[in-house]
Amino acid sequence: PLVLGIETSCDETGVGIVRGRTLLTNTVATSMDEHVRFGGVVPEVASRAHVQAIGPMIEKALADAGVALDDLDALAVTAGPGLSGALMVGAAAAKGLAASTGLPLYGINHLAAHVAVDLVAPDSPGLHTPTIALLVSGGHTEILRIGDIVDDIELLGATIDDAAGEAFDKTARLLGLDYPGGPSISRAAAGLLDGSGVPGDPAAVRFPRGLSTKTDLRDPERRFSFSFSGLKTAALRTVTAAEAAVSAQPTDAPGAGEPSPGAPRLADIAASFEEAVVDVLVKKTLLACEDTGIRHVLLGGGVAANARLRARLAERCEAAGVTLRVPPLDLCTDNGAMVAALGAEIAARGRAASGLGFGVLSSLEVDDVLV
Ligand code: ATP
Ligand code: MG
Ligand code: FE
Repeated sequence: PLVLGIETSCDETGVGIVRGRTLLTNTVATSMDEHVRFGGVVPEVASRAHVQAIGPMIEKALADAGVALDDLDALAVTAGPGLSGALMVGAAAAKGLAASTGLPLYGINHLAAHVAVDLVAPDSPGLHTPTIALLVSGGHTEILRIGDIVDDIELLGATIDDAAGEAFDKTARLLGLDYPGGPSISRAAAGLLDGSGVPGDPAAVRFPRGLSTKTDLRDPERRFSFSFSGLKTAALRTVTAAEAAVSAQPTDAPGAGEPSPGAPRLADIAASFEEAVVDVLVKKTLLACEDTGIRHVLLGGGVAANARLRARLAERCEAAGVTLRVPPLDLCTDNGAMVAALGAEIAARGRAASGLGFGVLSSLEVDDVLV
């Protein structure tokens, strides 16, 4: 089926069109720049940006794909989870299109769509099921067991406080680095922000690994859960200590203003922080494989852009004989193609459409794939 998908759950206005498992276009506008000065996504700002972008983005996607509205077989839109106001803009646009064309409309789950997107990746081997999915973004940190992309998704664990991307964003802010924090921290860790070009030592600072003690790992409630809020506090303490070490030196001493030999450099702090986040994500994902006997892992969400995460996960998966799929990064961050991909899969199975009466659900559960 030829399906147009609309995504507006956070700060990306995405419209994608797929024909079955072939991606025709993936058009994305983001309001990220408007959130920079706030250090995080501001819901009202995101909603307004969606209102401005949604019409032109739909037009552009149709034009790019060389498709007329009449050619489409179905529409799909993210119904949740996400920011209510942002979701409403996409849902209203999709319902308007459905009402004016008579096309069936599927209201679908954003998290399932992050997994389904691999169906339309250019180099996709198809979606191996069962698979363990690690979804890591600014709003999500989840380990899922995917038995079937429409009918069998189980949440194994999630973060109990900050999402992984949020931890990067908040810690970057403490370190005086730009939003979004993920890329900034990676650049700092590579030694690119202090002019040294010398990569940081990931073992320089021992940051906490949340919910990873033996007791945590034995507790079924905590085994696959994450906690990243302690990292912020630890990072703040480390930065304060490093600054104190600098200012404690007499100002006329040689090397004044330079960090004292014992104090960690920015690159060390950033690399150690990155390592702490990656350690926990990789460890728990492989534990999920072990517990379930599943030999396939799929990585999704904006934090998949983290090179250290991809490298460590690839290394550990290979050692464990587990295959790893990482869709192209523009399909990992929020986009419309993922919504169209899941919509097409649901339509191909002949499922009843959602109708026009559904409401958006900011905390839609992951096993509610179709509303
Ligand atoms: P949602 O949570 O609904 O998927 P989002 O907009 O918060 O939406 P994405 O756009 O998928 O999520 O990803 C953005 C997040 O990814 C930000 O928190 C950003 O810091 C993080 N990120 C981007 N690049 C990197 C990187 N290289 N390393 C770590 N984190 C990164
Ligand atoms: Mg985003
Ligand atoms: Fe997302």
